[in-house]
Amino acid sequence: MKKIPFITKEKAEEIAGKYPTPFYLYDEKGIRETAQAVKEAFSWNPGFREYFAVKATPNPFILRIFKDYGFGCDCSSLAELKLAEVSGFRGEEIMFSSNETPAEEYVYTAKLGGIVNFDDITHLDFYEKNAGAFPETVSCRFNPGGTFSISNSIMDNPGDAKYGMTREQIAEAFKILKSRGVKYFGIHAFLASNTVTDEYYPNLAARLFELAVELKKETGADIRFINLSGGVGIPYKPDQEPNNIGRIGAGVRERFEEILVPAGLGNVRIYAEMGRFMLGPYGALITRAVHEKHIYKEYIGVDACAANLMRPAMYRAYHHITVLGKEDKPEDHTYDVVGSLCENNDKFAIDRKLPEIEKGDLLFIHDAGAHGFSMGYNYNGRLHSPELLLKENGDVQLIRRGQTLQDYFATFDCFDEWKGLFD
Ligand SMILES: *Cc1c(COP(=O)(O)O)cnc(C)c1O
Repeated sequence: MKKIPFITKEKAEEIAGKYPTPFYLYDEKGIRETAQAVKEAFSWNPGFREYFAVKATPNPFILRIFKDYGFGCDCSSLAELKLAEVSGFRGEEIMFSSNETPAEEYVYTAKLGGIVNFDDITHLDFYEKNAGAFPETVSCRFNPGGTFSISNSIMDNPGDAKYGMTREQIAEAFKILKSRGVKYFGIHAFLASNTVTDEYYPNLAARLFELAVELKKETGADIRFINLSGGVGIPYKPDQEPNNIGRIGAGVRERFEEILVPAGLGNVRIYAEMGRFMLGPYGALITRAVHEKHIYKEYIGVDACAANLMRPAMYRAYHHITVLGKEDKPEDHTYDVVGSLCENNDKFAIDRKLPEIEKGDLLFIHDAGAHGFSMGYNYNGRLHSPELLLKENGDVQLIRRGQTLQDYFATFDCFDEWKGLFD
């Protein structure tokens, strides 16, 4: 499918006139349509809740949009808990799915009344020692080990992942928790990332539903929810078929009726913690071509770099690029599109077929709405770009200003002496 930017060149230039490139732009319309589609896909399950994975796009203005759909927040650090808090989420609207957790984060989750999703059996004592008695409802994260396959193709390798408890441990954890006063239980697993297939959630659900039936028998635990976590992917490449959330919801429902209903578990709630699927396609990094370089290859230098969007450098991830205003021009040039870091992996695209790029052209880097801005870093002293929200009425709202050199220097003790440098 041809990838179409959610703004025109004219609109992008208008925005760039006020907020110089590079900047992140999010599309409220796309976010809302997806939230609504997710809600409808699981409306057969009365207790369904999506807990948006805050780490994907940690911005209160984004988090608040999801409040309109009854969603919650999935957090895994103190900052993320506070982001949920300032965005108005409380109690069971907060899921805390962390690992290698600092004590203060359990304490803060308890203070907010969030649901703790324990990653490891050794954390039970650690929690009690630091945060006090367990709450009424608790969740545990499962890791089945081995590889996770769907129709003979290996999706991922849980046996190699640091997360979750073994089958024996999760049963043991439920028994311990029950003996220490926990009344209601949840089960969580995240077994494959960025799955571009409608079969991932239904397959994962079937495994967790079977586990729930077994754990109920073995431990007598009152299981109230199954958390399918994240992992529903998006088509980064134009030749990929997007997931159909309606079909995914129906697939989970089928397994639910097959496995849980006959076991007397028909009241179990389905939870999700999607990040990428909710926001990936509805955010773009917009950057301007500032240099061209002709050596052994053709390079286009842009004003964004891997410090703004790390995925290509870190995972060699593909991000589609549209040269705004040249959507219909032939893609008859081959470029590496690069940033300014002194790191040769600072390339948004390698050997990419694109229309001829001239200095000053605006590039729309697609699918940067999740795990984009949030993975930003400050290598080479490069600064975080601003984040902007394109509202449904066409207005643009600054939802996070860009980092300044003052921000960068502020953590040095002697900052006050140097202040003059920044006037
Ligand atoms: C990262 C993460 C998510 C979100 O994953 P996506 O691939 O963005 O959907 C959800 N839950 C947990 C525990 C995570 O670590």
